[in-house]
Amino acid sequence: MEKLTNEFLEELVTECRPYSRDGEVVKDIPGQSPADQNKLGVCMIDLNNNVYSAGDTDMRFTIQSASKIVSLMMALDDFGKDEVFQNVGMEPMGDFYNSISHLESHDVKKPFNPMVNAGAIAVSAMIKGKNLDDKFQRILKRLRQITHNNSLKINEDVYESEKLKGDRNRSLAYFMKSTGAIAHDIEESLDLYFRINSIEVTTADLAKIGAFFANGGRSLKTGEQLIPMDHINTIEAIMMTSGMYNEAGKYAVEVGFPIKSGVSGCIVGSVPGRLGIGIIGPAINKKGNSTAGGELLQRISRHLDLNIFSVI
Ligand code: GLN
Repeated sequence: MEKLTNEFLEELVTECRPYSRDGEVVKDIPGQSPADQNKLGVCMIDLNNNVYSAGDTDMRFTIQSASKIVSLMMALDDFGKDEVFQNVGMEPMGDFYNSISHLESHDVKKPFNPMVNAGAIAVSAMIKGKNLDDKFQRILKRLRQITHNNSLKINEDVYESEKLKGDRNRSLAYFMKSTGAIAHDIEESLDLYFRINSIEVTTADLAKIGAFFANGGRSLKTGEQLIPMDHINTIEAIMMTSGMYNEAGKYAVEVGFPIKSGVSGCIVGSVPGRLGIGIIGPAINKKGNSTAGGELLQRISRHLDLNIFSVI
């Protein structure tokens, strides 16, 4: 096993940058440009708060679908497992992340899992709060507490664009309304979903979310149990089976710990009992996953012996 150092990570980043050629930067997210094609950055934080980083860690980007683990965490904390999974499944899907057809063919008329768009919209609909603003502020407060970053906020340009270009997500939401899969206010649920996707983060913020999960829901700063461990276990299991959409199987085999991607090219990773990882590599493949980021994760896991199934 190699030793985790900044220099070691820097070497891996250099090796993995060329894999960004296999992907493309999403053009319609404000602030993202083709000039970011070769960017790649990683931050890792262990449970003693040691920080290791390499590459383009100064980048700010929106959390996009990596927020789906945060929404699920809020809903589990608000309602508990039984109630949440009455509204959303926990099975891997095998289709693209924004698939609508599965909502029609699936027997129980609920989205497959909370890691795909339809499932995350159904989960967002559940999150408690007096009104839309209150719901969003609760999420932001929790995220600031987990990341120890009080300046965490929404990127307004991205939020406006998510609303403007959100017709696919609107279709998913209204379809679910028609089948009774969502009984909540659709526009409000969608607006909350768009806001959560538009939170701006860095690789360090994502690594802290991963480390918080790795620490079983206890604050890395105070040791306080902020979210019950049982909920964290549920989220990590679902990340493992669905966090990389229709590439989740490959990543379960090649990385072997829970990870979740977003179309900004970000990935959150969590190695239970050990550390959290935040990655940005804006070039993504058709399945919505960072190509260089995915390669980097595989090498990190292999070299540092992080596969959770290899523990004896
Ligand atoms: N904002 C994007 C959407 O809702 C997020 C998708 C993703 O990151 N996979 O479609």
